[in-house]
Amino acid sequence: MTMELPSIPANIPEPGLYIVATPIGNLGDITLRALNVLQNVSVIACEDTRVTGKLLKHFGIKARLQRLDDHATPQVRARIIDEARRTPVALVSDAGTPLISDPGYRLVREAREAGIDVVSVPGACAAIGALSIAGLPSDRFLFAGFLPVKDKARSEMLAGLAGVPATLVFYETAPRLERALRAIADLWPDREVAVARELTKLHEECRSGSAANLAAHYADHPPKGEIVLLIGPPADAEAPVLDADAMLRAALGDAGPGKAAGIVAKATGIDRAALYARALELKGE
Ligand code: SAM
Repeated sequence: MTMELPSIPANIPEPGLYIVATPIGNLGDITLRALNVLQNVSVIACEDTRVTGKLLKHFGIKARLQRLDDHATPQVRARIIDEARRTPVALVSDAGTPLISDPGYRLVREAREAGIDVVSVPGACAAIGALSIAGLPSDRFLFAGFLPVKDKARSEMLAGLAGVPATLVFYETAPRLERALRAIADLWPDREVAVARELTKLHEECRSGSAANLAAHYADHPPKGEIVLLIGPPADAEAPVLDADAMLRAALGDAGPGKAAGIVAKATGIDRAALYARALELKGE
């Protein structure tokens, strides 16, 4: 089924590269400006031509599509940049805002270096949608993309972010959610965590609590769909030495005292020798 376009004044965009956000589930979230740009560009660079083809069909837009994913060759990017000198060209991803855990960084960087106008056409982004409903501090946040899949790498990444005084925002997949929550519970049993799932879709939910409680919930109710995982900032009362202890304990799970001290020293700037001494104490506990 196609949808009638809202009557917006047709406004032919100037030549340049338009970075266009598309919906993350609810097709009503496309902006009028995005529709106007997508209708009037000479080519749309996209991750997957089938996914973008479906979106365009829904809105009755016919356009030339050019695949541009993480494996695109420099020649493909150069052709798109060359075209953007003469005509308006768009970049979209499968869903949400391009470049946010999606392809496009190299294209944008090279386009800017080539003196092309790079224009934002903002809209849906799962990380921002989640932050706006999670009830966690939103004045400062750190978006860190997908958590690593392997336990050791995940713990190291989390430990490296322990001292960040901001809400942490990650993308996660349903099958890995419970394991990630358990790793967070080991490191920060007291921090408030939120899971935002299926944003803008029929089964949207946002659940918050301790990581241990959320892990228990999702063990009983295996989650489906797409997920943003958020971790509240450290409480003021969490003294840095306690943070360092938690980080050392997490690092000691996979490494000896020397390596654990090195990891935590790098993440916090705390003296490595002091951390090594503390790691030996913790190991002996
Ligand atoms: N560029 C996209 C954006 O702006 O949000 C993100 C693309 S990234 C490849 C896909 C991940 O985003 C999913 O695995 C999930 O973690 C998150 N995501 C995308 N849509 C979502 C939704 N409707 N609800 C919750 N998370 C979503």
